[in-house]
Amino acid sequence: MKFGILGAGPAGLYAAILIKRSYPSATIKIFEQNPSDATWGFGVVFSDQALSFLTKDDPQTADLIEPYMEKWSEVNVTHQNETVVIDGVGFSSIGRLQLLQLLQKRAAEYDVVPVYNKKIENLAVFDDCDIVIGADGINSVVRAEAPDEFDERFSIIRNWFCWYGTNRSFDCLTQTFVETEYGFFNAHHYRYTPKLSTFIVECDENTFENVGFAELSEAESQNICESVFQEILQDASLVANHSIWRQFPVLNNRIWYRDNRVLIGDALHTAHYSIGSGTRLAMEDAIALVQALKESEFDYAKAFPKFQSERQATLRKITDASFNSGKWYEQFATHMSLPPCKFALSYIMRSGRISAEKLHGMSPKFAAELEARGIQIE
Ligand SMILES: Cc1cc2nc3c(=O)[nH]c(=O)nc-3n(C[C@H](O)[C@H](O)[C@H](O)COP(=O)(O)OP(=O)(O)OC[C@H]3O[C@@H](n4cnc5c(N)ncnc54)[C@H](O)[C@@H]3O)c2cc1C
Repeated sequence: MKFGILGAGPAGLYAAILIKRSYPSATIKIFEQNPSDATWGFGVVFSDQALSFLTKDDPQTADLIEPYMEKWSEVNVTHQNETVVIDGVGFSSIGRLQLLQLLQKRAAEYDVVPVYNKKIENLAVFDDCDIVIGADGINSVVRAEAPDEFDERFSIIRNWFCWYGTNRSFDCLTQTFVETEYGFFNAHHYRYTPKLSTFIVECDENTFENVGFAELSEAESQNICESVFQEILQDASLVANHSIWRQFPVLNNRIWYRDNRVLIGDALHTAHYSIGSGTRLAMEDAIALVQALKESEFDYAKAFPKFQSERQATLRKITDASFNSGKWYEQFATHMSLPPCKFALSYIMRSGRISAEKLHGMSPKFAAELEARGIQIE
C-alpha cells in the first residue's frame, strides 16, 4: 500500500512513523518544501502532561524527546512591574527544530526519509498513492484543492504578533505586559534550552497602528520590540527567524477528508499559541488517524469517518479553549486596568476550562494569595 504525505512538520513525520510501525510493508513518500535543518520559529511549549500522550503507546519516541525538554511548574504574570506567580501550571518546552530532527531520526529508523526542498504545487505527485495525508500546515495545498468540500472556516485573532527568540533564559513561562507611549504590548517568553528562549511579542491593533509597524523594516520592528522589553531582556537581544508581524488565523474544517485524502494538524485546525497545544494536537491527530486506519484494516472509506467521529469531540474542547484564550488576548489592553493579582486571575481563567474549585486544587499558593487579598475567584 502506498501513502503520500505532504509536509514533514510534526504531524507529517509522526504520521509516517506510526504508519510504518503498524504497517511495515507500506511505502511512504513525503515531500517537504524546507531543508531538513530549517524551520520557522523557536521553541514550542507543551502544556499540562507534556509527553504523557506519547508515553503509553510510543515510549521510544517519548524517551528520545524527553531529555531535550525544559520543564517548570508555574507561570509568572508580570503587570505594572509586579510579578504574580501562578503555581501548579506545568509546561515543558523544546526547540521546534530539535523536535523535528528527533522525529526525522525516528522516521529514518523505519526507512522513511522525506524529500526535502520540494515544494508541491498540486497533488499529481500523489496520483499513484492509495492514501494521501495533508499535513501541510495552515496554507495546505491538499485543503486548497477543495476548500468547499472540506467546508473550511477561517477567522482571525485581531492582535498582531511577531515570533522572536532571545539568548537569555527565563525561569518559566512568563507573560509580561507593558504599557508604552504607543499603547499596550505583551510578550510570551520561556526558555526552550538552558540558554535560549522563545520571545513572542504581541500588541493590539491600535498599538500596531500607532507604532506604524506595517511600514517598518524587520530590523526597525525588532529595535522597537527590544526597547519595549529592555527591562526583561537586559543585555540580551532578540533573534529573528522569518520574524514578521502576523495575525493568528483560526481554522476549522467541518469535513476532514475527501475521497482518499485526509487532513491532520494545522492543515485541519489551528490552536492559538497562548495555550501551547498546536504541536501536541498535530501529533495526536496522527495517532488517532493511524489508529482508525489500523482498526479499519487500512480501508480509508471506513477509517476516515471513524477518525473524524472519534477525534472530533476531544479536539473541539482544546480548539474552543484556544479560541477563548485568543479572544482574551484581543482584550488584554482592557484587562490591564486591573491590578496585578486580579489581572493574573483573569489571565488564568481565560480559556473557560478552569473553575474556582479546579484553581484551588491546581494552584493552592496563588488561590491563598487571592484570598489573603480579598479577591474572589469567579
Ligand atoms: C507564534 C506561534 C507560536 C507557537 N507556539 C506553539 C507552542 O508553544 N506549542 C505548540 O504546541 N504549538 C505552537 N504553535 C503551533 C505549532 O507550531 C503548530 O500547531 C504545529 O507546527 C503544527 O504542526 P503541523 O505538522 O500540522 O504543521 P507545520 O508545523 O506547519 O508543518 C507543515 C509542514 O508542511 C510543509 N509544507 C507546507 N506546504 C507545503 C508544500 N506545498 N510543499 C511541501 N511542503 C509543504 C511546511 O514547510 C511545514 O514543514 C505556535 C504557532 C505560532 C504561530
